[in-house]
Amino acid sequence: MNIILFGPPGAGKGTQSDIISKNFNLKKISTGDLLRDEIKKNTKIGHKIKVIIDAGKLASDEIINSLITEILENKIFYNRLIFDGYPRNLSQAKNLTLLLEKHNQTISCVLSLNVNKDLIIKRILGRQICSNCGSIFNEYFNPPIKEKHKCDPTYLIKRTDDNQITILDRFETYLEKTLPILEYYKKQNLLQEINGESQIEQIYKEIKGILTTLEAWLYNSYLYK
Ligand code: AMP
Repeated sequence: MNIILFGPPGAGKGTQSDIISKNFNLKKISTGDLLRDEIKKNTKIGHKIKVIIDAGKLASDEIINSLITEILENKIFYNRLIFDGYPRNLSQAKNLTLLLEKHNQTISCVLSLNVNKDLIIKRILGRQICSNCGSIFNEYFNPPIKEKHKCDPTYLIKRTDDNQITILDRFETYLEKTLPILEYYKKQNLLQEINGESQIEQIYKEIKGILTTLEAWLYNSYLYK
């Protein structure tokens, strides 16, 4: 199955997709992570991407589509992808549908994490990322205590776009460009709304229920095809 994890910045997509990918053996594709990898390479294109990200705007569809095309061409990930932070606008969503069709796949479900704006801001301002293992924490809601995080605390960093000003720009971009995608998936009966305001474990419990049922249904429809 291929899943899209949808929601505003700070909704918990990264945290949940890490848990889902481990438990359902899916490959997590975060276009934000892929773009940050490009920035780390210190290339000309990386510099351009950093300016866009720090302004809370979207990277070009051309860059994103070429990243996704490369992933879908890799047979190792056939029908076991979880997209985090992608697609980000209607054009990317339509392009994804076409690309999946080309590779004999579909989207199985779109999980939409609903979180109010005040909580989003608090979550983003508290977010910490381990630059060594990639784990995501939050100093208010999910602190990197020893039982959860084995790396040295000096590896913990803040994203440059996780600040008071950029978050408001990112939220505006989300409302204007990303939110309209929901209608596109709703019409295809793919949308599942999740309460993203509860605790991490509670949110995952809700998601797990949906995906377990979906997995069984997909398996049965494959058997009786
Ligand atoms: P994220 O890690 O998903 O919060 O993304 C961080 C930033 O990367 C976003 O604010 C955008 O500037 C950029 N970005 C991530 N995914 C996409 C995408 N699918 N299309 C365009 N820009 C993206």
